[in-house]
Amino acid sequence: MIIETKTPQETFDVGKKIGENAKPGQIYTLTGDLGVGKTVFTQGVAAGLGITEPICSPTFTIIQEYESGRLPLYHFDVYRIGDIEEMEEIGYDDYFFGQGICLIEWANLIEEILPENLIKVTIEKDLDKGFDYRKITVTGLEEI
Ligand code: ADP
Ligand code: MG
Repeated sequence: MIIETKTPQETFDVGKKIGENAKPGQIYTLTGDLGVGKTVFTQGVAAGLGITEPICSPTFTIIQEYESGRLPLYHFDVYRIGDIEEMEEIGYDDYFFGQGICLIEWANLIEEILPENLIKVTIEKDLDKGFDYRKITVTGLEEI
């Protein structure tokens, strides 16, 4: 599934719709270069889940948990992970195999521990189509 957006709001709204329809236990990976809109998308997912607190990037903590929505949201940013052991230390399997939604940035760095049933979200720019153009590719979901 490919969705094209032309403003941050549209990307937010795609995330919001996914959040509204998200089901317990789903794991989303979020891939894209710096500044492409991963955080904007995540804020949309959180809004769709009814989460009221602000979403901050968990780069220094690996995981940030949000419990105020319809389902818990576990937002991972594994960019700074040195060793897969660190995932064991935070008890990642409680999150991966729990009743919340996992959203993982830089998931390629922890490929060996990712389950098979992933929903993959990739966000890309295409400067030929304008500075604010984004192509969002979603695999593993029938519809959003
Ligand atoms: P990332 O988390 O991927 O590093 P951010 O979400 O923090 O990126 O930032 C994306 C930036 O791109 C924001 O400044 C946002 O306003 C801008 N932007 C412009 N067009 C779009 C779009 N179509 N979708 C998402 N963000 C956009
Ligand atoms: Mg970000």
